[in-house]
Amino acid sequence: MKAQGLNSDPWSCSVSAAIGDVFGVGTQLRVRRNKDQMAIYTVAEIREQDPANMVRMSSIARQRLGTSDTFSGTLHTPLSTKLMTDAQAESSGAFVERLADAKDHQGLVVMAPHGGRIEFNTDLQARWVAQALAGGDVSTWCCSGWRTDNGNTHSRWHVSTTDISPASFPGLATIADRGFAYAVAFHGMKANGVLIGGGAPNELKQLIRQAIKSEVGNNPVTVVNGGKNSGVSETNVVNWITAGGGGGVHIEQSSQVREKYWKPVAQAVADVFADLI
Ligand SMILES: [Zn+2]
Repeated sequence: MKAQGLNSDPWSCSVSAAIGDVFGVGTQLRVRRNKDQMAIYTVAEIREQDPANMVRMSSIARQRLGTSDTFSGTLHTPLSTKLMTDAQAESSGAFVERLADAKDHQGLVVMAPHGGRIEFNTDLQARWVAQALAGGDVSTWCCSGWRTDNGNTHSRWHVSTTDISPASFPGLATIADRGFAYAVAFHGMKANGVLIGGGAPNELKQLIRQAIKSEVGNNPVTVVNGGKNSGVSETNVVNWITAGGGGGVHIEQSSQVREKYWKPVAQAVADVFADLI
């Protein structure tokens, strides 16, 4: 893994043409430095001139693997290749994808791209909504990651919602072209309160806001149409997964909200969609 001076992005890398045949531009790969150090990156560029086995990333990207030096490592698909339950994934520090779907579902997809300990309780919220709407036209897609050392799980397994590639997530590939009428994604943020964003119509975001507002005590619940954590980019998975790319609802929540109110927030979201699908 060589230095990449031009790029100070911690989340991306460039690869040789040979590696690019397996991991194309825009897809994710997992770089494993040793049994304790690994992280997911998005391929930003193919460098035709580079030796076949070379990956480049910035110093700050290498620091996610515990070093700012160059090093030898191995490349893997981002997801665990072993079948395991969430409990097994948690105890082995793995990253897994879960899809609950039927081919004829086109109503609502509930998403949690950063479950497990990446943004805790968000995957549980997605499943709560699915359970509340059981028997309805609802699919769920979750990714959950854990680690077993004391390091930061977000730093190891986070893939930005605008980078997540169906080519790297087979479950997502299954539903990528479905054209859901509605999509909602649960996320966690460092800031306080709750943000209701995404490309969905303002009317829908206001309905969700009203439903959540009464469940979270004094925490502010704000509809956002732009800016940090607003999720409005058309490259955000919750937006492009909807019919015609029209837009989904992107919900960001503080740690406190996810700790104390994750169930009532999820139930409030379920109640809104129960009337729509
Ligand atoms: Zn997130």
